[in-house]
Order: sequence, then C-alpha cells, then structure tokens
Amino acid sequence: MTTDPPLTMDALRNPGAEGLQADPPVKLGVIGHPIAHSLSPAMHDAALRQAGIACRYGRFDITPDDLPEALSRMRDLGFHGVNVTIPHKTEAARIVDETTPEARRMNAVNTIAFDPSGTLGFNTDGPGLVRAIREEFLVDVRDLRVMVLGAGGGAGRAIGVQCALERCQRLVLANRTFDKAEALRHEILPDFESDLLEGPGESLVALPMDREALEREIPHVDLIINATSVGMKRTDPSPIPAALLSAYHMVYDTVYSHGRTKLVEDATSVGARAANGLSLLLHQGALAFEIWFDRPPDLPSMRRAIAST
Ligand code: NAP
Repeated sequence: MTTDPPLTMDALRNPGAEGLQADPPVKLGVIGHPIAHSLSPAMHDAALRQAGIACRYGRFDITPDDLPEALSRMRDLGFHGVNVTIPHKTEAARIVDETTPEARRMNAVNTIAFDPSGTLGFNTDGPGLVRAIREEFLVDVRDLRVMVLGAGGGAGRAIGVQCALERCQRLVLANRTFDKAEALRHEILPDFESDLLEGPGESLVALPMDREALEREIPHVDLIINATSVGMKRTDPSPIPAALLSAYHMVYDTVYSHGRTKLVEDATSVGARAANGLSLLLHQGALAFEIWFDRPPDLPSMRRAIAST
C-alpha cells in the first residue's frame, strides 16, 4: 500500500505545485473521506502501465462540501474520470450531469467519466458484485436466493437493486434500520411481480437485523452478502450470529480491509464457502477502466497489484 499522503483540494487548486502534472500526470483517481487505505491506486496504476496509457491514478481526500468543486476542477484539468467512495456516492448521483438508469435506481454513483458533454455517472458496484460472485462461487446471482445484510446502506442498496435487475430467485433485504430495507423492497417490488410464480410476498422480503427475523429467513437463502460496515475494524464482531450459518450457505463479505473478517471465519468454520470483498474491488475497478478507456484492463496485473499491497 502506498505511504504517500492522499492528495487534497490544494492539489486540484494548484496542480503544478502539487505534482499532478509530473510524468506521467495524474488523470484519474478516487475521491473519499477518509481515503488513506484505498487499494484502488495500486490496482489501476498496474492496469494503466500494462495498457501503455501514460497517466497515474491518485487518492483524493475531499470533504463532502468540496465534492462539486473537486469534480469541476478535475474536468477542467483534463481528467479521464474518477471513482467516488464513502461518503460521496449518493451526492455524486445528485450532482453529475447524467447517470445511467441503473445508477439512478441505485441512487449511487461510484464511477464518473468526464466528457465534452459533461459529467456522466455510473455504478459498477452492482455489476462488479455479479462478476465477483461468479468468480468466487461459480454461480450466477440470478440462480440464487440472496440475503443482503445492510440493504439500506449505499453498497447494500446497489447490490439489492442489482439482484432485482438480475431477477434473482428470491431476495431478502435486511437492515438495522428496518424502514430503509422496507423502502427498497417497495421500490423493487415491480421487478419481482412480473415473472415469479409464487407471488411477490414470498420472493421479496424486508426485515430488521434482529436474530428472530434472521433465523426465520436464513434457512431459505443460498447466498448471504454482508454490505454493512460491520467488519471494517479488525475487532468488529460478525454482523450475524454464527449459529445461523449452515454448510450449504455461500457467504460474501464486501469488507476487504484486512484478511478474514469474523463473518468469513464463522462461515468457514461451519463448512460454508466464504469470500471477502477483494474480488468486488477488482471487478468494480475493471468495469470503471472499461468505461474510461473503452477496452478491458489486464485483470491479472490488477490482481497481482492488490495481492502485493
Ligand atoms: P453506508 O452507506 O454507511 O451503509 C452502512 C450500512 O451498515 C447501513 O446499512 C447500516 O445500517 C449498516 N450498519 C452500520 N453499523 C451497523 C451495525 N452495528 N449493525 C448492523 N448494521 C450496521 O456504507 P456503504 O458505502 O454502503 O459501505 C458498506 C460496506 O460495503 C463497507 O464495509 C464497505 O467496505 C463495503 N464496500 C465494499 C466494496 C468493495 O469493493 N469490496 C465496495 C463498496 C462497499 P443503518 O441503515 O441502520 O445505519
């Protein structure tokens, strides 16, 4: 992982002084707050080198108040695009000139392309998750009964909407603040009403994250996705009791900040297949690269860069 301090608004306001124009110049990046631990620069720089594209990918620590100015300065500086992460995804969806219909439904943008016609917002977390599940478990989301933990958060909403777009077999939306899960259920209900025989009531469920509700639904799902922020700190517990997991479950933890989370450990110890969020990081990044350069990146280079940081 790079030890350079993140770039700030100062770099965008004084690009010459802050080395943005060094050789090769910074023309891509990720905006977050905080952003110190992002693996995206290593992953994207490896792909850029491999593709022979002469630019670098920077980390930008930008507060929510400065997001509009940061995007406008990046565009003026000739950036190809930028990724946005916590806490900017919802605000980015609001302030870009145009979004894809998927990003609009997710109400979250994680990838922006700068274009002569304006700023275009995309969400690659949802499709990245589909690729990650295929890679980790050799199955397609559309063939699975899925439970999303944290379905009211930014990532959880994107994953919930993507599961609906994929027409997964069954979708259980769990969130600590129940109203947010229920709101998402209401939004995606039409996707489930159209083609599932047993009726939307059973195919699409919202619940709070309490033990009783989880215990009722977990036996009826195949894939459990953790999209809560529980697990980001090394000392965090699992978001759900270990006793609820069974060997037939597939468990995907979107958290990747440090090796195995407690959820992944619990899942593995009952014989379930489990993976952390590095594959999501990889695939959402690869899809962003394709948006910016209209060609796929070299995935092995990106993988090696993630593994060595
Ligand atoms: P967010 O918008 O802040 O959402 C946080 C979610 O976690 C909410 O659903 C929140 O529930 C829930 N939560 C927080 N504390 C909780 C607790 N103690 N118990 C139960 N639920 C709790 O954050 P986000 O942007 O969606 O990010 C969520 C996670 O996704 C993070 O761990 C992030 O690392 C991961 N992520 C990974 C990738 C990747 O590339 N691998 C990409 C995107 C996101 P309430 O609604 O009740 O507050």
